[in-house]
Amino acid sequence: MASMDAFRNNVRDWLESNCPESQRQPIIKDQQIWAGRNRSFYCYDSKLWFERMRDKGWTAPTWPIEYGGGGLTPDQAKILEQEMKALGCRPALYDIGLWMFGPALLEYGTEEQKQEHIPKIVRGEIRWAQGYSEPSAGSDLAALKTRAEDKGDHFLINGTKMWTTQGDKSDWIFCLVRTDPDAPKQQGISFLLIDMANEGGDARPMELINGDHEFCQTFFDDVKVPKKNLVGKLNDGWSVAKALLKYERNMMSIMSSIVEKEEGDIVEIAKRYVGTDSSGILTNSSVRSQLSLHLMSAQADLWSGIRLYEQHKKGLSDGGLGLTMKYMSTTEQQRKDELLLSIMGNQGLSWQNQKLSEAENKSVKNWAYNKAHTIAGGTSEIQLNIIAKKALNLPS
Ligand SMILES: Cc1cc2nc3c(=O)[nH]c(=O)nc-3n(C[C@H](O)[C@H](O)[C@H](O)COP(=O)(O)OP(=O)(O)OC[C@H]3O[C@@H](n4cnc5c(N)ncnc54)[C@H](O)[C@@H]3O)c2cc1C
Repeated sequence: MASMDAFRNNVRDWLESNCPESQRQPIIKDQQIWAGRNRSFYCYDSKLWFERMRDKGWTAPTWPIEYGGGGLTPDQAKILEQEMKALGCRPALYDIGLWMFGPALLEYGTEEQKQEHIPKIVRGEIRWAQGYSEPSAGSDLAALKTRAEDKGDHFLINGTKMWTTQGDKSDWIFCLVRTDPDAPKQQGISFLLIDMANEGGDARPMELINGDHEFCQTFFDDVKVPKKNLVGKLNDGWSVAKALLKYERNMMSIMSSIVEKEEGDIVEIAKRYVGTDSSGILTNSSVRSQLSLHLMSAQADLWSGIRLYEQHKKGLSDGGLGLTMKYMSTTEQQRKDELLLSIMGNQGLSWQNQKLSEAENKSVKNWAYNKAHTIAGGTSEIQLNIIAKKALNLPS
């Protein structure tokens, strides 16, 4: 215990001395530092902060030191997370390689693959994209058709992937491909790593309802991929895919801590817009009860996360709690977004109105964007099917 207290003190001191003041502000989408060959920094402080965290291995705190990670135990990483939160430090690096692909590669990759890819992820040198979904394979992912033919020393890839987040800005993509078209659906799939600089790969941005271009349709036209880029066994990519989805859902359940947030505390916002009586109580009873419900659910989510973490640490079964986390936290985030807009009233109805404050315009954008969180990484309906089957043992 004493050593943990000492560790906490060291972390706090280090953060105090190394996190520039400007990097202790709530994160803004345009100021996130994404990994990549073309990585860029919006200001000197963000570069400094990124480099200091990278050199400590704290961009990936629990990953082994031999691959550049921080080598922290889960308890130490939790302390780091808590201290960063207490000081308001921004995440130093963004990349789905860090959140999803890296952990799966540490589990399933060969030593050669880990040595090639993990240090680059820790150092933010390569930006990764996810090539799972296809035009006819989303919830029913195993229906995917992108073909990888065995050509002796390499695979030849043909097909298309959908909804590739930031595909046009990514350097590499991890993909599920069909290597045996005659095997039962889940058994003919392999997990391949593809360098997007290869000839024949093309990620084309698609325009979204809010005018952003966050997704791509990615095409593979006779793309050659060396055999060493196969992760896991041939035709057993489904095992790797499932492990990675577990990390993706974990990431989705903590999404609210890494994405842009509304400015300030929701209770304070409610007081400002709705008004209070002489004893400081919100005058609008409907907002008051919705706000209470939200605060209780958010607290329950937080405690469930802590309970889950403590159970995992002791090697206990979570009794299905882990399966529910993504569903609960993304649904609660959407309820909060709805509540914020109703609190703001007319001022919460536009995202490009120059007469409104930046925070008001952003609230609408966040509300629209966060709809995606109950789709990405497996829709809520699919999550509920899984919870029904695996946690509650209900019939299919
Ligand atoms: C923000 C965001 C980022 C994404 N990024 C990526 C990415 O980088 N790479 C990638 O590969 N994919 C990505 N996706 C795609 C995502 O994985 C799919 O959108 C998701 O799996 C759902 O598939 P679909 O869109 O084809 O919908 P469908 O599978 O066509 O589903 C349509 C509707 O039917 C419902 N439904 C389907 N089957 C069932 C069932 N058995 N029981 C009950 N209801 C059902 C669904 O819940 C949904 O409401 C992203 C999606 C979003 C929103």
